[in-house]
Amino acid sequence: MAELKKFKTESKRLLELMINSIYTHKDIFLREIISNASDAIDRHHFSSLTDESLDREGNYSIIIERDEKNRTITIKDNGIGMTHDELINSLGTIAKSGSKEFLEKMDKAKKEEQLELIGQFGVGFYSAYMVASKVNVKTKSPFSDKAYMFSSDGVESYKIEEIDKTDRGTEVVIYLKEEKESHEYDHYLEEFTLRDLVKKYSDYVRYPIKMEVSKSVPKLDEKGEKISGEYDEVTEIEILNSMVPLWKKPKKEQKEEEINSFYRKKYYDYEDPFTHLLLNVEGNLNYTALVFIPKHAPQNMYSEKYEKGLQLYSRGVFIMDKCKDLVPDYLRFIKGLVDTSDLPLNISREVLQKTTDLEKIGKNVEKKILSRLEKLLKNDREKYIEFFKQFGVNIKYGVYDQFGASKDLLKDLLIYETINKDAYVTLSEYVKDMPKEQEYIYYASSKNKVSASSLPQMDLIKKKGFDVLIFNDDIDEFAISMLGEYEKKKFKSINQGDLGLKDEIKDKKIEELTVDHKDLLDKLKTLLEKDVVDVRLSKRLTDAPVCLVSEDGVSFEMEKALSHLPNSEQFKASRVLEINPNHKMFKSLENLFNDNDSDLEDFADLLYQQALMIEGFPLKDPVSFSNKMTNLMIKAASK
Ligand code: ADP
Repeated sequence: MAELKKFKTESKRLLELMINSIYTHKDIFLREIISNASDAIDRHHFSSLTDESLDREGNYSIIIERDEKNRTITIKDNGIGMTHDELINSLGTIAKSGSKEFLEKMDKAKKEEQLELIGQFGVGFYSAYMVASKVNVKTKSPFSDKAYMFSSDGVESYKIEEIDKTDRGTEVVIYLKEEKESHEYDHYLEEFTLRDLVKKYSDYVRYPIKMEVSKSVPKLDEKGEKISGEYDEVTEIEILNSMVPLWKKPKKEQKEEEINSFYRKKYYDYEDPFTHLLLNVEGNLNYTALVFIPKHAPQNMYSEKYEKGLQLYSRGVFIMDKCKDLVPDYLRFIKGLVDTSDLPLNISREVLQKTTDLEKIGKNVEKKILSRLEKLLKNDREKYIEFFKQFGVNIKYGVYDQFGASKDLLKDLLIYETINKDAYVTLSEYVKDMPKEQEYIYYASSKNKVSASSLPQMDLIKKKGFDVLIFNDDIDEFAISMLGEYEKKKFKSINQGDLGLKDEIKDKKIEELTVDHKDLLDKLKTLLEKDVVDVRLSKRLTDAPVCLVSEDGVSFEMEKALSHLPNSEQFKASRVLEINPNHKMFKSLENLFNDNDSDLEDFADLLYQQALMIEGFPLKDPVSFSNKMTNLMIKAASK
């Protein structure tokens, strides 16, 4: 006799969400039903260990059947099944602790967020109603003589009736919705789609997921030889899933080549990864993480569209493709996955807690990656340099990001080229090699070593034998500004502010010279007042006539790096033109000034524009620069 029962209020609300919400995660229904089947088999297996009345042979499997004529997909398992009461309690109510919170969250969430909520954690059995107009669940528990069927359209009520079924387990029959116009649900009846969904979401379910598939095999002639170009369509039962995930195989079976080829296939890379890490963590949180550092930065890594993240699995069941919480921004280049038994696939446990758990896992993965890199830096410098050339920028970004929150974790992973050495050095190595009288860690922003070495500002520092770090990434100065100092040594740019050197000018002290030449310097300042905040005599130049430096604060490199931002004017370095008082050019300026020669104006402008060029800025006005230069050349030649 059939019983007609009404859904409990909460069930009704959840069902309504399923039936009515339009969203993109409809595919997950299959994952949810297969997971239930797998859980039911687990439970049977587990019970059979202690209960002798249960069949220990198992022969466990999950079978998918499709019926295009009747528009049904059936998922069969030979798990624990459900008794009459279990059927009502399990499918007629959602008596689980997290569900209420879930529904509350859904109420508050915006439409897009709702999609995320359902998509990530699934909603178990009811998700079938995203694609079904009706679902029948036929089930037989080994603890009951009778078998029952639940059937419902998921609206108000469901029917329970006794049926004939003797084999243990459950069959879920999904009647696909019919959209006459869009045919939205039809593709779920295709072999290809189902195979694909199993591969994507349920590849590592422990039990074989079988389906009848059709194949073309070459036709054979009477002698059993292949007839070329002719095929027979045959059907056979195929196991769609690979069952044991690579990361769960015993250590000795995890071959490097297999891991590499897994990486290449899964993350669409044409080459092996730079390195991989496999973590098996047991404790409060249990999980396995398989993480890869690629050899090369993903092409679009810096584009807005790039999504960082690791894949998330719950006991082998795929949940989410790019789980952001697992990866700090600066490690956005890593690929891989986390498989945990502690995150519920369904909503039955605290959904709310999930983020903190994920963050904890993410933190640990981060720590492990960094310690791997530290080891590499220590033991295989060459390989580390290879890594750093690809991802050094990311490490520097990590130092800077979030107001330096990770700077202490990262500062010892930084390496730099220097003016004096042929190798990269760490900050610690630089500081160790500093001569006693050197107070600061000097750096120069420059495209490469050659151009850094030839910066006029470098003269004096080179003469003193101090080494200088070369900064060639936009982010360098920002990262350093976040560090401020390393082992109590402050950083100092060689073209910013005072160099902190003891005055070394041979004849007179700079201050005295400045007083002596006040009028000339004032005149130059007036001539260049639109371009520079000051014209000074330089302590840092020995060979070059002039250079451009900035006051403390925004540096030239920062200015260049920020120039593409809106309102970038506020990030303008204040320019100071420094003149070498020991250079012949200074004498010429003095002469022109004393003779009241109008050429002084052109000289000032040319010197300023030269200084701009040396700093890697564009010329202020290339045409006037060239004209002035030509005039001077003509003048010089006619003397
Ligand atoms: P969850 O799986 O999160 O508990 P579901 O709504 O998917 O939530 O399922 C509710 C309950 O129904 C399950 O906990 C289980 O007891 C029962 N159930 C669902 N599918 C099966 C199945 N194939 N075999 C046995 N029991 C099942």
